[in-house]
Amino acid sequence: EAAIGKALQLGRDRLAAGDSALDVCEAVVRVLEDDPHFNAGVGAVFNEKGEHELDASIMDGSTMQCGAVAGVRTVKNPVSLARLVMTKTSHVLLMGDGAEQFATLQNVERVPNTHFDTEHRRQILEEVLQERARTGRLDGPAQQAGAYGTVGCVARDRQGRLAAATSTGGLTGKRWGRVGDTPVIGAGNYADGAVAVSCTGTGEQFLRHAVAHSISARVQLAGETLAQAADALVRRTLKPDDGGVIAVDRAGNLVAPFNTEGMYRGLADSNGRFVVRIFED
Ligand code: ASP
Repeated sequence: EAAIGKALQLGRDRLAAGDSALDVCEAVVRVLEDDPHFNAGVGAVFNEKGEHELDASIMDGSTMQCGAVAGVRTVKNPVSLARLVMTKTSHVLLMGDGAEQFATLQNVERVPNTHFDTEHRRQILEEVLQERARTGRLDGPAQQAGAYGTVGCVARDRQGRLAAATSTGGLTGKRWGRVGDTPVIGAGNYADGAVAVSCTGTGEQFLRHAVAHSISARVQLAGETLAQAADALVRRTLKPDDGGVIAVDRAGNLVAPFNTEGMYRGLADSNGRFVVRIFED
């Protein structure tokens, strides 16, 4: 709660000072990537080989510009590399070795893969691998408690621009090379002129249902409110325990529905609202 509160305060203060939604999303996600409590950057979950492969994306709803990286292993802050893909290339998504080489060209801060290790996440990997050995299941998403913790930020700035950024280590024990929803624009992350959305949960489900973009489509094409659209995806389209989303619309409405037991989240606005929650209100 303290870590979320700190990140939330940073975002709120920078928006109040007039910073852009895009800059704020990147800055907030960087703070969360550097915090070992979350499954992004330091504290990222381990894949089946006991290594980290990180995914991240960022989108500026005011320009529809976006960038993403998948399967990076030595980039300290994947969200910033995603932003460089957006600003310095004509592409949207770079993966693996190509993304690493691009990081070298851009002089982005690098770390050994072990920089992201935490004892807590290693413990969860052990449990997942033991469970697999016991049941004979070779892969599949890890539903164990503590397997989640992807980070994301959505923001609306003083000029009404919307942005979203998301960063993750993926799912514990994931097959190496597996890419989830987080770096896929429209699935785990999306922003346009109407909404900004960042998702967490079983990535495969968010990919199948293009969750982040579907929320925008429901608002813009079906005339639903942000709350109705986000609830429809989280409570009807997705299955119980799949995950949740955080989202903001152009009027500044904030929602954070989830269908898991809890979801670490913080919501703040310029009217003085400032709340950090884990479980249902
Ligand atoms: N959505 C992420 C993924 O599937 C994981 C998470 O949100 O915890 O890679």
